Amino acid sequence: MTDLILGIDLGTTNSLVGIVDSGFPILLAGANGSRMTPSAVYFPDGEGEPLVGAEALRLRMAKGERVVTSVKRLMGTRETVMEWGGRKWGAEDVSALILGKLKQIAEAAMVEETAGKPITRAVITVPAYFNDGQRNATKRAGERAGLIVERIVNEPTAAALAYGLDKLNESSKVAVYDFGGGTFDISILELNEGVFQVLSTNGDTRLGGDDIDGEIARALWRLAGGDGDRVPDSFGEAARQAKCALSAAETFPVRLPFYDGEKSFEREITREWFEKVARKVIERTRGHCLRALSDAGLEARALDAVVLVGGSTRIPLVRALVREVFGREPDVSQNPDEAVALGAVIQAGILSGAMRNMVLLDVTPLSLGIETFGGLMNVIIPRNTTIPVKRGELFTNAVADQSSMRIRALQGERELARDNWELGAFEIPFEGGPRGSARVGVQFAIDANGILQVLARDTATGRDEVLEIQSAAVDVGDEKVEAMINESVEHAFEDMNARRWTEGKMKSDELLPAVDQALAMLGDSLDAEEKARVEAAAAEVRMALESGSVSRLKAANQSLDEATETMAAMLVERAMSGI
Ligand code: AMP
Repeated sequence: MTDLILGIDLGTTNSLVGIVDSGFPILLAGANGSRMTPSAVYFPDGEGEPLVGAEALRLRMAKGERVVTSVKRLMGTRETVMEWGGRKWGAEDVSALILGKLKQIAEAAMVEETAGKPITRAVITVPAYFNDGQRNATKRAGERAGLIVERIVNEPTAAALAYGLDKLNESSKVAVYDFGGGTFDISILELNEGVFQVLSTNGDTRLGGDDIDGEIARALWRLAGGDGDRVPDSFGEAARQAKCALSAAETFPVRLPFYDGEKSFEREITREWFEKVARKVIERTRGHCLRALSDAGLEARALDAVVLVGGSTRIPLVRALVREVFGREPDVSQNPDEAVALGAVIQAGILSGAMRNMVLLDVTPLSLGIETFGGLMNVIIPRNTTIPVKRGELFTNAVADQSSMRIRALQGERELARDNWELGAFEIPFEGGPRGSARVGVQFAIDANGILQVLARDTATGRDEVLEIQSAAVDVGDEKVEAMINESVEHAFEDMNARRWTEGKMKSDELLPAVDQALAMLGDSLDAEEKARVEAAAAEVRMALESGSVSRLKAANQSLDEATETMAAMLVERAMSGI
């Protein structure tokens, strides 16, 4: 799995990393369970290494002067943001630390898939307006973190991919409205030959949800009777909380007990009040949208879609403004905080070839399984299962002192192995022992490309045998599938009988020697009548086996089971009393 490529959203306030796993793009959580890693770095005073992410952010209150945030704004400049370890650190150096952390998160999350090997390739997103210098700086930061940067992707392009807009018609035009914590970007894209081109971009690198928090905090402060611009931090935090809550609720109770050690503030605020205060910040995005449209030479109605990115687009008033400016309902089907990262992962998946079958969800046309005891088909993945898929089962040895098991990978709908198609076979060795003592796990995994991997593991030694079958598990002609299904319906009755016969016979093969052994052990301690009953039942099983009748065999097995109950109880008692 050395062809894994990470998708990374290297954001101003938060960064995310993901990967295509088993054909699906997923975002990966760090040790604290969050998929968002704050783009913050703490440089310790004395000993120790820099800390990245939530840990760094937590130290901002206590050691603000040692914590660096928002370096993305300085990307491509020579500005020093920190002096530490005898050298000067710029935006590129700090970004390398953040990217290194994301690489670590991905490697930890994927350790099983990679067997602990490093992941060395990545796709990183940047704002559409980044110039060459800023793009190169981002690329170098990636390299410094030990990543080969396969591609730098525009954030709106990534978002459009996440929204599935690459499936639109040729020369479709879309607007990506990205309103985050600290920045606002609007981009107009055009789809050409499956690739997005940026027609125009506009925005403000100093406009975001933080500004809304500021307005709300000041308004709350005034309500509390405060004056001047020195608003306590607790009001800022309450403002942010109220803002997020009011995206879903109509009212929110702001409570700030003893905010200055003495005074308390309490007020139920409404969405209407919030909108009155926040409106002027949100309105500032309007002009940028109009300019982007005009730069692209388009009218709003020429757009085929408008998608929303960034946490601040959860605010209903923001959505109302987008609706008004673009004259259409925005697409809100993706998580606005994750759309860019998800798009980066999809782009990475396309590059690595892990996403080829993404468009169409494939299913297994026929059941897949292995041959088990008595030549029966044991289905592991039923037909019509969506791929990629991974399923397994535990098997054991049918006879004593068997030292290997033959795994035959089969495809088809018939009950007997011999009526199905063999895709491949191999032997898995294990320690000989009594019947039923071996434990062999068999796992079928079909990846997004339809490649079937059959893995058998002797759980005692952990030893694996693997068989890889190219696409045969998924690529079967429609006619052959139809023929197989028709056959299975046609033979359903006899197949079922065959299965029941085999199962019955296996049960007899298990019972008869056990009964003989028990009779010998108990000898005279069993009364004559009891003994005669058991012997008669055993004789009936032998005759049923001769007769070939499924129902007779089943009934005989059951009678023998019942006839031996007393005997079995005696054996248990003996074992317990240690005779
Ligand atoms: P981003 O930079 O895309 O992560 O956006 C973060 C911004 O979105 C911050 O200003 C958050 O306060 C804001 N935000 C997150 N969730 C919500 C919400 N439910 N309602 C309003 N704003 C939100």
